[in-house]
Amino acid sequence: MKSRLVNYILTGMILLSTKVYADPIYLDYQASTPVDPRVLESMLPYFTKEFGNPHSTTHIYGIRAHEAIEEARNEVARVINADPQEIIFTSGATEANNLAILGTCRALKKKGKSEVISVTTEHKSVLEPLKALEKEGFKIIILPVQKNGIIKIDDLKKALSSKTALVSVMAANNEIGVLQPIQEIAKLSHKHGALFHTDAAQAFGKIPLDVKKDEIDLLSLSGHKIYGPKGGGALYIRKDIAIVPICYGGGQEKGVRPGTVPTPLCVGLGKASKIAQEELLSESKRLLALRNKMLQLLQNNLPGVIVNGDLNERLPGNLNLSFSGVDSKPLLSSLGDIAVSVGSACTSDTTELSYVIRALDPEGTLPPATVRLSVGRFTTEHDINQAASEIITAVKSLREKDPKGGSRSCRPGDIEELKF
Ligand code: PMP
Repeated sequence: MKSRLVNYILTGMILLSTKVYADPIYLDYQASTPVDPRVLESMLPYFTKEFGNPHSTTHIYGIRAHEAIEEARNEVARVINADPQEIIFTSGATEANNLAILGTCRALKKKGKSEVISVTTEHKSVLEPLKALEKEGFKIIILPVQKNGIIKIDDLKKALSSKTALVSVMAANNEIGVLQPIQEIAKLSHKHGALFHTDAAQAFGKIPLDVKKDEIDLLSLSGHKIYGPKGGGALYIRKDIAIVPICYGGGQEKGVRPGTVPTPLCVGLGKASKIAQEELLSESKRLLALRNKMLQLLQNNLPGVIVNGDLNERLPGNLNLSFSGVDSKPLLSSLGDIAVSVGSACTSDTTELSYVIRALDPEGTLPPATVRLSVGRFTTEHDINQAASEIITAVKSLREKDPKGGSRSCRPGDIEELKF
């Protein structure tokens, strides 16, 4: 009798702890995606049986690894209509961006090209190498964005000159999901004799990209944004473009990115690319429906829901919202059952400052809290209903508790300048 009672208590405790510690609903697919089981399966043999060094092609172990890498190169190239020989494997989009920016600009400096144009809302892995180039004597021109997150083409026209070496503009933004008009930007860059690079870490496999039609010279991509492994990515470099390596070694990847090529990561990236391409249309339709449902539920149940960035020119799976009267810190602590990114538009808060949101709102009129909700391959309609209900409850309760919350807008002094 006593032991049965103990059992009941123990079972109850386990059930309770399961509830308390159940995994939150994942709505942060722009930060990273889980590896698709089909991708994992394709990778597994290359950790064990097919372990050969892909550059040791004097025996069958190396030959099979080499062939697997070349097949993966084909799959990556196919997504963007590139030639496989134009794909260089890297550790991710950070390395690809560094290589594209530093490598082309250093090669072009000898030809008197000393200016680079980019945009204020770019990822740090673009903005930081630009700072390094400034120290090497380059003039860096950073274009602002409009309230919707998109650049003004007229600003680009004014900034371009015969000295422009490179224009680097992301295809899709990681925080607000906004799409830049890259084809138009590329054509204009070429008119002035400049190269065009795009950071497509968030766009590759999610929206159609065609390096020939879009006139893209260099494109960076990342495996872990498309259900592939972390630590695998690539840079597309158009055939005839000269690039100075940023790392030196054994001459692999045409000497542009030396080091033993990691077979499992490349195979995973290849398989993830293949799936992304095959399912792009159906997946983007499904994600768009889920995202729209989330927005509709929130707007129907809450006043003061602000969408940050253009709603139409946007990745299908992204929403970035502010809620009037709500601060980021209390919002973050009341959203325990969903995994989202919460940012802040001003320094008066403790969550991470978003220079992207501040770029849309230089006067600081937006409420401080911003929430990025990104849906993905494994998000269900049930997840959307649950998450929406949690956000609605949290926002209502925070507004009741602190009717003046979030009324602090950022003062101009709060806005940290990005220095170039
Ligand atoms: N650029 C963008 C737009 C990104 O979102 C990310 C990842 N957050 C990167 C670059 C860096 O990619 P990786 O993690 O593969 O280095």
